[in-house]
Amino acid sequence: MQVLKFGGSSLADAQRYQMVRDIVLDKQKSESQAVVLSAPKGVTNNLVALVNAAISGADTSALISQLETTLFSIIQDLAQQYANYDAAAVTKVAEEKVTFLKQRLQGIQLLGQCPNSVNAEIICLGEFVSVEIFAELVRASGTKSIVINPTKLLVANGDYLEAFADIEASRKLFAQASLEQDAVWVMPGFCAQNSEGELVTLGRNGSDYSAAILAATIDASVCEIWTDVDGVYNADPNKVFEAQLVEQLSYQEAMELSYFGAAVLHPKTIGPIARYNIACRIRNTLNPSAPGTLITNESIDLEHVVKGISTLNDVTMVNVAGPGMKGMVGMASRIFDAISRDNISVLLITQSSSEYSISFCIHSADSARAKQVLEQAFELELSNNLLEPIELRDELSVISIVGDGMRMHKGIAAKFFASLSQTNVNIVAIAQGSSERSISAVIEGKKSQDAIKVTHQNFFTNLNVIDAFVVGCGTVGKALLKQLEKQQPILKSRNISLKVYGLANSRQMALSAEGLDLANWESELASADSKFTLDNIQQFVTDNHLINPVIIDCTSNEAIADQYVNFLSAGFHVVTPNKKANTSSMAFYNELRQAAAETNRRFLYETNVGAGLPVIDTLQSLLSAGDELIGFQGILSGSLSFIFGKLDEGMSIAEATAIARSNGFTEPDPREDLSGLDVARKLLIMAREAGMEMELEDIEVQSVLPASFDDAGSNDEFMENLPKANAEYQKLVDDAKAEGKVLRYVGSIENGKCRCGIQAVGPEHPLFAIKDGENALAIESLYYQPIPLVIRGYGAGADVTAAGVFADLMRTMPWKREV
Ligand code: ADP
Ligand code: ASP
Ligand code: MG
Repeated sequence: MQVLKFGGSSLADAQRYQMVRDIVLDKQKSESQAVVLSAPKGVTNNLVALVNAAISGADTSALISQLETTLFSIIQDLAQQYANYDAAAVTKVAEEKVTFLKQRLQGIQLLGQCPNSVNAEIICLGEFVSVEIFAELVRASGTKSIVINPTKLLVANGDYLEAFADIEASRKLFAQASLEQDAVWVMPGFCAQNSEGELVTLGRNGSDYSAAILAATIDASVCEIWTDVDGVYNADPNKVFEAQLVEQLSYQEAMELSYFGAAVLHPKTIGPIARYNIACRIRNTLNPSAPGTLITNESIDLEHVVKGISTLNDVTMVNVAGPGMKGMVGMASRIFDAISRDNISVLLITQSSSEYSISFCIHSADSARAKQVLEQAFELELSNNLLEPIELRDELSVISIVGDGMRMHKGIAAKFFASLSQTNVNIVAIAQGSSERSISAVIEGKKSQDAIKVTHQNFFTNLNVIDAFVVGCGTVGKALLKQLEKQQPILKSRNISLKVYGLANSRQMALSAEGLDLANWESELASADSKFTLDNIQQFVTDNHLINPVIIDCTSNEAIADQYVNFLSAGFHVVTPNKKANTSSMAFYNELRQAAAETNRRFLYETNVGAGLPVIDTLQSLLSAGDELIGFQGILSGSLSFIFGKLDEGMSIAEATAIARSNGFTEPDPREDLSGLDVARKLLIMAREAGMEMELEDIEVQSVLPASFDDAGSNDEFMENLPKANAEYQKLVDDAKAEGKVLRYVGSIENGKCRCGIQAVGPEHPLFAIKDGENALAIESLYYQPIPLVIRGYGAGADVTAAGVFADLMRTMPWKREV
């Protein structure tokens, strides 16, 4: 005989009952079927709500009519479709149950309380109506059916609302009952009788357990749990879009997964079927041809050590602490005695090795009761200050990874915790079962959805995600968007999902939950109605559960740079060519690095010096290997390299600047280049990178423009005035030429002093040949002397800068290791 259990999700309406009937009758052709049914969808919740309403004296009529509508509309629908469906008989049973319910509710209202025994009688009423509806449908379809009464044949003891099966006692009762073997058996789930013959229920969602008890009692060949998903997935498919079906699980794996929140199976289900070694299959009523998930005593999956991830929400952590805990024998047993006496189930326990405190997690619904029983049990210790007041922390979740193979593998916990840190979630407590089959972490509830998404990604997909927000669509921003558009499909083929979710200029911000279409970003931006603020994008990230958000600041704006600490603290990586943050005060510079370290986010700015050239990274690598900067000389400005190169060729300063500007080689305001300020900023960044503590004012800067030149006005006015500097400049160039030299704008660090200014250099000087936008950086260090390390190449231009930003962006991808 096979046992088939159909949950409320499979019994939502008349059509679903027919689908169930089709499945059962099809299977009945080859083997006898025992069907265990839940109440129709929503009915048990409705009954629970009714009990609570009655206790609090609230009006129950709306809930009653809702219940009646659910039940009677299914019966009427079936009667309409099947001429021989005996709706009157089924309706009679349903009416009896509703009458019984109303009487009981009245009693509860009068008393203002509901004993658990009465509660149990009420909340399983839906199951009893459900079996009548279904047994009649089977009969009307021409097959014999009998209703099995679990309150006469199944034995379970303990609490009225959370009883545990006695399989041996149930076997005896079944052996005495002579039940027709060739009829379809239909049994209400969720309830049984105790040894005193009273009705008990098996805990919410307990029909799975009923099926397992029945299967064990009658030695069924299989126990199938039919639900609304194709089987057990490696994460809840309703929460993780990419969750994959697990073909096979061991009993223990299934137990751990369900215990830690995988609602697809009730945690108590596995006990009986494992003990009697009955195979269990989870299958989909809506997709009966799918094979489902097989649960047996083996664990087969060579590919995945971790089989699944689950989360338990609405968890409260209780902390019992105080000087009285130390060395006092029996504290733990007193705590858990008190808790279990009140039928509160403990989900997870941790104890500090100092024995100063014991913490454990319970369902939040039990928290008020738990506090009360502990305060009673430890009244004396609390009043004598041997214990601190019992502390409760709400709104937590437990996230667990499960797999039999975890025992033999190293690095799993590391990967799990790396995933949680990637989610930026604070771990409140950790527990690992001694079987090493599961590891659980208690985290803030509001982060559980993100945590499960990232953990799933890291264990089950090779997908790496970058969730980008681009601010600034000027020269560099535009070039970056173009490169991103081109690379997106290539990265995708390498399992990297790089999407731009937001794009902003100084006026507007376009946001798209699917990621912006980069081929049309101009029109997306033009029609956008929101504005770039941290609050706006933070809300967007939360709403869309983005897990690796990066702000790419392609502006040269100081007001945006001032917010980097806030960006990092809000969980964003920051990638930028904007030099303003790194050249702000030393205090802010340090604060930025501290924020990045604390939030485990990256602040990346390789393009601050030498655009796409590998300057910062090289310097950081050298210094972390123990090198020290001794001196530095370089042409750090692509625009000045270009302009001074053009002066060699006989061009005027005004003409050279205009060309550099139109080629996109200058800062948006060319005065930033010509004033020397841009070079000074780069020099400051180099110096700070090398460990020198200094401010921008400490740098000696000589402007490119003659002291007499008036550089006021708008960008355009400035450019119009620039020819006035030509004559004076020509003289400088000519003087140098007379000595066989050329002019170069050089930044240097020497003896702890930073300078930038114009130098005339001869052909023997390494910077003589540097022009046309090239940069050259000569780094003299402990390891590189007397011949310095020279980095040379184009140090300006939208494409190389954007490519450098792109490279930084790729470095925000989380650390990954295959396990
Ligand atoms: P039923 O009414 O059939 O008993 P439940 O709602 O109790 O159905 O259980 C099925 C639900 O369990 C699914 O719809 C799914 O959202 C949830 N679930 C949670 N974790 C998992 C998982 N790992 N695999 C499959 N389903 C899961
Ligand atoms: N109907 C009960 C509940 O919702 C039992 C079950 O369906 O498993 O809790
Ligand atoms: Mg269920």
